[in-house]
Amino acid sequence: MSRETSAAAAGPAGGPDPARRSRRRTGSLLGRLRGPDTVDALPNRYRLQVRTGLLDETLKLATYSAVTHLIIALAVTYFFWGSASHTYLLGLLAVVAALITATTYTTWLYWRAYAGTASERSVRWGCRISAGLAFALGLAWATMPVVLFTPCSSEERLLVVAIVAGLISDAYVVGPLLSVSYLFAVPVIVGSFVGLARSGEPIALSIGFLLTVYAVFVVTSVRRMSRLSCQRILDRVRVEDQSETIGLLLNAFEANASDWLWETDETGQFQHVSTRMADVLARPVETLQHARFQALLAGRGKAPIEADQSADLLERLRGGTPFHQLLIAVDTPAGRRWLRLSGKPFLDQGGRFAGFRGVGSDMTEARRTEAHIAFLATRDPMTGLSNRVMFHAVASEACAAAVAQGPAPVVSLLYLDLDGFKTVNDSIGHAAGDALLGQVGDRLRALLPADAQAFRLGGDEFAILQRGRDAAAAQALAEAIIGALREPYLIDGVRAEIGVSIGIACAPADATDPEDLLRKADLALYSAKEAGKGRWRDFDSGLEVRVQRRRELDEAMRHALADGEMTLHYQPLVSLQDGHVVGCEALLRWTRPGLGPVSPAELIPIAEGTGFVVTIGRWALRRACTEALTWPASLRVAVNISSVHFRRPDFFADVAAVLAETGLAANRLEIEITESIFLANTPHVLDNLRSLRALGVRIALDDFGTGYSSLSYLTQFPVDKIKIDRAFVRDLSSRPECLTVIAAIMVIARDLGIDVTVEGVETEQQAELLRLRRCDSAQGFLYSPARPPGEIPGLIERIRIACAPRTAAPAEQTVRAVA
Ligand code: C2E
Ligand code: CA
Ligand code: CA
Repeated sequence: MSRETSAAAAGPAGGPDPARRSRRRTGSLLGRLRGPDTVDALPNRYRLQVRTGLLDETLKLATYSAVTHLIIALAVTYFFWGSASHTYLLGLLAVVAALITATTYTTWLYWRAYAGTASERSVRWGCRISAGLAFALGLAWATMPVVLFTPCSSEERLLVVAIVAGLISDAYVVGPLLSVSYLFAVPVIVGSFVGLARSGEPIALSIGFLLTVYAVFVVTSVRRMSRLSCQRILDRVRVEDQSETIGLLLNAFEANASDWLWETDETGQFQHVSTRMADVLARPVETLQHARFQALLAGRGKAPIEADQSADLLERLRGGTPFHQLLIAVDTPAGRRWLRLSGKPFLDQGGRFAGFRGVGSDMTEARRTEAHIAFLATRDPMTGLSNRVMFHAVASEACAAAVAQGPAPVVSLLYLDLDGFKTVNDSIGHAAGDALLGQVGDRLRALLPADAQAFRLGGDEFAILQRGRDAAAAQALAEAIIGALREPYLIDGVRAEIGVSIGIACAPADATDPEDLLRKADLALYSAKEAGKGRWRDFDSGLEVRVQRRRELDEAMRHALADGEMTLHYQPLVSLQDGHVVGCEALLRWTRPGLGPVSPAELIPIAEGTGFVVTIGRWALRRACTEALTWPASLRVAVNISSVHFRRPDFFADVAAVLAETGLAANRLEIEITESIFLANTPHVLDNLRSLRALGVRIALDDFGTGYSSLSYLTQFPVDKIKIDRAFVRDLSSRPECLTVIAAIMVIARDLGIDVTVEGVETEQQAELLRLRRCDSAQGFLYSPARPPGEIPGLIERIRIACAPRTAAPAEQTVRAVA
């Protein structure tokens, strides 16, 4: 029993309202008789409904009781016509008839006006009228024992007592409304006592006693009955109230939610199929009504559907066990729909399994969105290729399969890095760069065999996974890719050219997991780039050692420069005509404490890769210019500058700042650059060249003859000197054509007004041959290797004495004695 019910049943005995309690204590006789008003103790929202219910019941019974009263009034008139006053009998009959008519009429009026719409006011009105009429009727009947008991015969008295007893019992009829019952019964009981008292008969005492017992019994049982009626009506009101709330909630649920409720009976047939469920399944309600889950799942074919849990669902339905959020694919006339179902078995009153009840929701749209998001999450929007996330998934799976299959290289990874993409991106803009990447994606897709898949890993890096083929197949594919990506691109009418370098690694031969495979392909790519870009390289185990060494050197050189481990040594350049030292080339020297020297030929490419070469360049410029100040003013100092540094727009400012800072005359500084500088035609190269020459700084083109289309550069870019690479001098005696090439270079240089220095001169004979070819100057071990700055003044002097003036040279004699 709920708290409210118990409060209603117990009355206010335990009630908290002291005002109401005191009112009751000092209340009317009727109040006392009536006892606690059970209705008043109810919560507000039920009070009106219970009162209305009680009034309705009372009024319904009052109509039947009205007829009884009329019959009794007629019977009394008939039985006592011979013994009592006709006026009284007819008066009683008239009054009872009038009250009965009034009761019937007001009841009718009330029903008509308020049926189902009772308000606080109408109920109060109904109760008052009923109470008034009941009291009037009670008073009318109270006169009967008073008037008839004394003058009657003993048989007639028996009749009076019987009628009175019957009338008192009528209190039951109007019992539901306690006040109405009491207002009717109490006057009749009082009238009976008065009638008995007036008769003075000894039997009256016995009848009085019985009447008292009877009255007490009627009063208490009416009270009890009223309470029961009250409780019954309250229960009904509560149930109605709850069902209404549940109904409202369910309606709202079915109308607004994407979910629906479903129910099956014990045979598994659907009951009360909702329109929402029918909509989702794209079938009429009537078709689904009494269908089974099995029928919904029929027609999907035998093949299992990914993520579908219908087997689990059928299992649980069969076993009568609850299930939660099972995902089911159902093929409907409107296509496949995904439902999420939860359900619980329920029992009938006898405790037997009665079916399943549960909730269903339509997940079709959600799954579609999920799938789309998953698709987007694995795709690179720029190229339409799979992205890095996808690469890891596919590579993991491929590696696992490769490991399982054995030692043959069953998965090849081609790691691609575009050459020159950054330059194109910077010069034609990022939107065009994106378009270029898109075209690269298209070309890769067009090229790929069915067993290969391409990915964009980010930036200008791509990966291709090829399965089930040997290393040769991967190399052929790499070759084809290099050829295809090298072809010019047309973007918004602008022609662009890029290349690609490719590193290849295989699983399980080189690696067994995707991270390692990628790392090894990266090493191979690194070596491809190092070898001059636009080519592919396979991974080999020696690569790791080299890369490790590079990393270590990269780390160490940064500290070395700051800690003064790096110095510059100077190698003299000697005039072939008069044997004078005309200048010195600054060459970087780095001796690692405890580890020995590191060649600049190893160190500079690493520094170029990281950009640290710019720091080295600035440092070397400042140092060389400072040290050159201690030499005779006629001597120049040559500083090697990496193309990475020279291409920068601020390179000229770097040089100008050093000259201003050190005070070295600009024409004493020579900058040595290599042809690689002209490969990527960045605008700053020409600007820097022109600005430097305008300032008076000389430009020397180093390692001339080893590079590309050297001679054509000379017409495009203004330089002051070329340094013929030592490779020509080395083979001078064994390959006579070397001298021919040198002679040809000399002719062009003369025409263009460019000086020529020959590098790597180690013998007098070489020097003599070059002198005869009218080369300007020479450099090499014949005169001296690079020496520390402190030795330079002495060295200059020794060379001057040893070499000048020389007219002829002894054959094939190596002169190292000078140094
Ligand atoms: P390079 O500019 O061609 O420098 C000449 C190289 O040839 C030097 O090697 C020098 O020691 C060597 N050499 C000179 N005479 C002879 C000879 O008669 N016979 C032979 N076999 N070799 C001779 P080094 O010092 O090892 O430098 C190697 C390269 O490192 C340089 O070639 C230059 O490209 C680069 N380098 C050196 N110092 C710097 C620097 O400060 N900055 C930059 N960016 N690069 C530098
Ligand atoms: Ca040089
Ligand atoms: Ca050189």
